[in-house]
Amino acid sequence: MLDQFGRNINYLRISVTDRCNLRCVYCMPEEGTEFLPHKDILTFDEIYRVVKIAAKLGISKVRITGGEPLTRQGLPKLIHDIKTLPQIEEVCITTNGIFLEKYIDELIKSGLDSLNISLDTLQEKKYKEITRGGNLEKVIRGIKLSLDKGIKKVKLNTVIMRGKNDDEIMDFVELCEKFPIDIRFIELMPIGEGKQFKSLSNDDVKQIILKERQLSSNVVQNLLLGPATYFKTGSSKGSIGFISPMSHRFCSQCNRIRLTSEGFLKQCLHWRYGIDLKNIMRNGIKDEQLEQIIVKGIYEKPNKHGFKQPTIYEDNRNMFQIGG
Ligand code: SAM
Ligand code: SF4
Repeated sequence: MLDQFGRNINYLRISVTDRCNLRCVYCMPEEGTEFLPHKDILTFDEIYRVVKIAAKLGISKVRITGGEPLTRQGLPKLIHDIKTLPQIEEVCITTNGIFLEKYIDELIKSGLDSLNISLDTLQEKKYKEITRGGNLEKVIRGIKLSLDKGIKKVKLNTVIMRGKNDDEIMDFVELCEKFPIDIRFIELMPIGEGKQFKSLSNDDVKQIILKERQLSSNVVQNLLLGPATYFKTGSSKGSIGFISPMSHRFCSQCNRIRLTSEGFLKQCLHWRYGIDLKNIMRNGIKDEQLEQIIVKGIYEKPNKHGFKQPTIYEDNRNMFQIGG
């Protein structure tokens, strides 16, 4: 459906948990994080109920995120159920990849369409530092297995931080030249822990690549893909995407809404308020009324995020609580 600014909202991101097996430096504090008690997290039945209504309203792509979504027991069943909704064309997951080896078969069986793996470095020692303890080899094995087992699309999400991993940009480019993997450079957002690190704009990332490679013009444009722009180097099997929320605000093309693990329908990543669907559902609302509330929520999506001109509405939580 269209929101008040005429944007077609067809993409729902669902955070199924705020828990995570890693503690990435720009996403989660090292210690002292209080996670939601289990009773405050949406059940799969509640999530399915919201998706079913959202699908009727025009949502055709769903992304499962977190926290780390693969820490939530029974996830493949939820993916399978969502996939059976006739309006849903695509279900994807964003994961740190540590548990991929363990769950890849179940995920494939569930009908998962694509996989985004967050990976900011290809160096074992640096991976341990950035994720505070993660094992890079497990992630690499998970990625290889996903490709071997025929997951249709495998993409890497890479956040470049000045002085931390900006020396590895070409290593990532080479990876997508060799393998059919898309790399997406995502600009660091000044949310929560992310405020402590220096970002690199995607214009700078592109300049670094252009010193060594020619980039073909924007190769993919697909309304479901949202605001990424994609390029290829001459011989690359995968493509190189740039998601630039900071340097090239793309709010006018934003096609997404979010459902947080605690059950808020969040109309914008950087907007504190949302609609508490969990309490509304647990108070016994009927589907028709719930649909009206979701319609209103989508319609009232704010016109732009508040990163550049902070407002009283900005969200001060960390990304693991919002879902990225
Ligand atoms: N745990 C999963 C993962 O890491 O892929 C899913 C959740 S994580 C919050 C989703 C995405 O948010 C990851 O790609 C991560 O790199 C990104 N992220 C977290 N904090 C960020 C920040 N401050 N700026 C930009 N991206 C961020
Ligand atoms: Fe966990 Fe993902 Fe946040 Fe890293 S980015 S701490 S893997 S939720």
